[in-house]
Amino acid sequence: MRDYQNIINGIYEKAINQSEKGTVATYIPELAKVDIANFGIHLRTINNTCFGIGEYDTLFSIQSISKVLSLAYAMSLVGEAIWKRVDVEPSGHPFNQLALLEVENGIPRNPFINSGAIVIADILLSHLDDPKTDFLNFVRQLCDDDSINYNETVALSEKQTGFKNVSAANLLKSFKNLENDIDAVLDFYFHQCSIEMTCSQLTKVFYFLANNGCCLQNKLHLTNSQVKRINALMLTCGFYDEAGEFAFEVGLPGKSGVGGGIVALLPDNFIITTWSPGLNKKGNSLLGMQALEAFTTQTKQSIF
Ligand code: GLN
Repeated sequence: MRDYQNIINGIYEKAINQSEKGTVATYIPELAKVDIANFGIHLRTINNTCFGIGEYDTLFSIQSISKVLSLAYAMSLVGEAIWKRVDVEPSGHPFNQLALLEVENGIPRNPFINSGAIVIADILLSHLDDPKTDFLNFVRQLCDDDSINYNETVALSEKQTGFKNVSAANLLKSFKNLENDIDAVLDFYFHQCSIEMTCSQLTKVFYFLANNGCCLQNKLHLTNSQVKRINALMLTCGFYDEAGEFAFEVGLPGKSGVGGGIVALLPDNFIITTWSPGLNKKGNSLLGMQALEAFTTQTKQSIF
């Protein structure tokens, strides 16, 4: 086994001593309160050996990382029918871009931009009896950890300021690509984004995507082909208009969130999560991107 602990220690030391750390997201007021000095890395290998450094056991808002989990859940319930309502092309645009929806008749470019995730939320609402509870249970089951929860304050904070998401939902509704009540869909969406997890919980939750659909509790959630599709979408669409840059620098399927988390994985090998709340101009964690670039370069472990 490579000397992973030594490698992440070195990356951590360099990162925390760097003065340029990016900017904490402020458009969701609750997120602006997070201390920019936090930095954690957690790595879980496919045989469940773990390595961590820094704040890898501190809870943070997973935000858009949740879009991978809602997609996985929707795929397990609905299968291929999803792709009639959302496309699979990189957007090359920021996560809250609305313009493309108009030219594309209300079909979001992919499930990881906000409009796409709102459609996935709508699909879940149509198929679940108690959507918020059922989704939380799905995530808890993947992690074997019932302590995982929504942060109601963050969900409310976004509800009060999420005007672009309200616009996206209205636009989708006007194109008849939302089945449920707009407020109910957005309430679910804001809650899924507000889930809090630690880096070590996230490497556990994402384990099934590195392990052909089978989670650490040995339950099969998705088929090989569904896992292939989600990993492909993470590679091509996981970082909005910086997806090309992430593939170029890091070379792994991954997903970021404006809470400063990034999860990336190498199928059959490992899952790695970084958390540093300072974001770059495209809304991705600045130190996280750098740390993952250093990690795949030093270990020579990427899909390329
Ligand atoms: N909840 C955030 C939003 O909808 C998620 C964005 C993100 O993490 N990129 O704006």
